[in-house]
Amino acid sequence: MRAAHITQYGDPEEALALVHVERPEPGPGEVRVDVEAVALNHLDVFARKGHPEDEGAFPKRSGCDIAGVVGSVGDGADTDWLDEAVVVYPGVSCGDCEFCERGEQTMCHEYEIIGEDRPGGLAESVVVPEACLEQKPDSLNFVTAAAVPVTFTTAWRMIVGAGQLRPAEKALILGASGGVGNAALQIAERLGATTYATTSSERKADRVREWADEVIDYTETPHDEAVLALTDGRGVDLVAEHVGEETWQESIDSLAMGGRMVVCGATSGADPDIDIRSIYQRHRQIRGAPMGNRAQFRDVLSLVARGELEPQIDRVLPLDRIAEGHRAIEDRAVFGKVVLRP
Ligand code: ZN
Repeated sequence: MRAAHITQYGDPEEALALVHVERPEPGPGEVRVDVEAVALNHLDVFARKGHPEDEGAFPKRSGCDIAGVVGSVGDGADTDWLDEAVVVYPGVSCGDCEFCERGEQTMCHEYEIIGEDRPGGLAESVVVPEACLEQKPDSLNFVTAAAVPVTFTTAWRMIVGAGQLRPAEKALILGASGGVGNAALQIAERLGATTYATTSSERKADRVREWADEVIDYTETPHDEAVLALTDGRGVDLVAEHVGEETWQESIDSLAMGGRMVVCGATSGADPDIDIRSIYQRHRQIRGAPMGNRAQFRDVLSLVARGELEPQIDRVLPLDRIAEGHRAIEDRAVFGKVVLRP
C-alpha cells in the first residue's frame, strides 16, 4: 500500500516521502481501517520538524484524524465492524486505571495518540484498536468526518469541559481561522457567549465574522489592548490559547478579574516570559486542555452530524501532495483543515 512517511527532520519537500509498504493486518482487539480521508494537524508538522519529547526514530507516519471503512478485524474484535464506515478517536488508553474508569482517557499514564506514538493514518490503511472506533454519521462525508476528531474534541474540552463557558460570558479565541481556533469559536458562539476572535488578515476576518461578535487583527493591535478597548477595560472571562510563548502574556492580560485561560497547545513555543503577579493578583486561572475524552468526542461528533457545528475544509489533496498541505499549515495560509485522501 502507499503511505506518506517522515524520513528525517526538515522541510516538507525533503522530509516527507511517498513509499510502498506492506498493508498492516490487525492483531488481537484491533481492526484495519482502509483510510478514505485523513486531516492534518500541527501534530503532523511537529512530527516532521521535531520537538523536545520526540524520539527521532525514522521513518515514522503521522496522521491522527482518520475516517474510513473497516477492512479487516483481528481476533476478539467484533466482526460486525467489517465494511462499516467509521471515524477514529485518536487516543489509546489502558482502559482500567483510575483515570480511564472516570472516563478521562487522556489522563491515562499509558495514553498514546495514533499518529504520534503509533503509526498514523497517512496511508491507504491503518491498524487501530477496536475501542477507538465510532460509527461515521450518515450525514457526514469522509472528508468532513476526518476534520472532527482532534480539533473539535480539543476545542470542546477547552470551551465546555475545562473552560465551562456560560452564555452570559465573554470569550476570546486566538487564531480563529485555524483548525482548533475555528472549532473553539463555533462552539463558543453556539453556547451564546459574546465572542472575540483574532486573525491575521482582512480576508480571513470576513469569514471569522460569521461566528465572532468582534474580530481583532493581531498584526495591527496587540490582542490585550484590543480586548480591553472593546470591553471598556473589563476583559474577557475566558481565553482559548494555543499559540504559546508569543501570546501568553497578552492572553493573560486580556482576562477579566477572575477570568480563566484554557490552553491546548503552544505552536509558537512553550517557554513564555510571564509575570505571575498578573495571574494571582487578579484571581485568574490557567487550565490545561490537551485533548477531549471519548464522551466529549461523541458529543461534538453528534453536533457536527446535526449541522450545529461545521468543520471548515481549506483544501482536499491526494496523498502525493502532502508536502503542500504541511507547507500551508506551517505558513498559516489555511482557513480550517487540510484533508488528504489516500
Ligand atoms: Zn488508563
